Amino acid sequence: MSEFSVKGIPERIDNSALPSASRKTNWFSCLPRKINICGWRVVGNRLPTRTNLATKGIDIPSTICPLCNDGSETVIHVFGECTSVKKIWDLIERWLNMKLPALRFPTDLMEWAENLALSVPKKEMVGAIIYVAWWQFGSFEMIQFF
Ligand SMILES: [Zn+2]
Repeated sequence: MSEFSVKGIPERIDNSALPSASRKTNWFSCLPRKINICGWRVVGNRLPTRTNLATKGIDIPSTICPLCNDGSETVIHVFGECTSVKKIWDLIERWLNMKLPALRFPTDLMEWAENLALSVPKKEMVGAIIYVAWWQFGSFEMIQFF
């Protein structure tokens, strides 16, 4: 039996909960636990978006995004495609002085951040910024993270 450690929690989550070894949990020690958990839930599409709730048989009046009224409230929409979110991504791009991927699927965005030609601490900072942005975007749509 392996020894338990808090540091090993992301690896344990990866091994037990994720279907593919290619999808690993990004855990940023500079962020509060709640934001790391939010990021994990965004990447794994484990948030109660209107579309996810409807898919699980919960009767909700509409799956349309309440911010833009122009798309189903999916994880991809809320955290990448919504017009209100795109404007903030543009500002983050300018702030970082980096071109973000045009399609901002959560998994693609994290893969992009991991493969940047930067030092590990700088890559982790970019990943942490993405997680904080997702945390904020979820609050715009009033998604319950817990
Ligand atoms: Zn929207």
